Amino acid sequence: MRAVFVGRFQPFHLGHLHAVEDAEERYDLVLAVGSSNKERTRENPLTFEERKKVLDNCLEKPEIVGLEDRDDNSEWMDQVEEELDFDVCISGNSLVRRLFSERGHEVEDPDYLKPEVYSGTEIRRRVVEGENWRKLVPGCSLEALEEVGFEEAVKESYENDG
Ligand code: NAP
Repeated sequence: MRAVFVGRFQPFHLGHLHAVEDAEERYDLVLAVGSSNKERTRENPLTFEERKKVLDNCLEKPEIVGLEDRDDNSEWMDQVEEELDFDVCISGNSLVRRLFSERGHEVEDPDYLKPEVYSGTEIRRRVVEGENWRKLVPGCSLEALEEVGFEEAVKESYENDG
């Protein structure tokens, strides 16, 4: 069975790693990186290429594809169905689960690991506040995040994006 794991991975942290490893025990996995056409915004500081570099540094098996945001949810689902081959969707986003479900696809929640701590929002907040965020990401992610300038991208995105 093939599963598509949808997320923005801003950035890829220990909670994502835990959920990906859990899903890999049951499925051939494709990672669909959402908002691939967004960058340097508060929610999406890293570009798709930067996020792919981080994921490639951490994960050997899953195929990694970008999904552009669309104004229309139905068009977004058309893009998903055209570009991806899957039996199940795994996502922490309730809208994503509803859209897949409405098209007749099976959906699952990720296996969460302390979601209040291992959270992209919390990591980006810590970067801006100058607090320690590094222990919330695996070493493979930290290494690539330092190469792509994650801290600078987050700070720039906060300045640009109000
Ligand atoms: P999200 O709404 O930011 O994520 C949902 C929540 O699940 C986040 O709090 C996320 O935390 C959490 N989460 C997911 N996996 C987790 C894990 N393993 N451990 C802990 N927390 C986890 O959205 P998303 O799932 O990142 O991305 C959905 C993508 O679909 C977005 O890019 C969105 O734009 C796209 N989309 C687009 C359209 C359209 O264009 N019309 C429609 C629907 C969806 P983290 O922040 O830590 O990941």
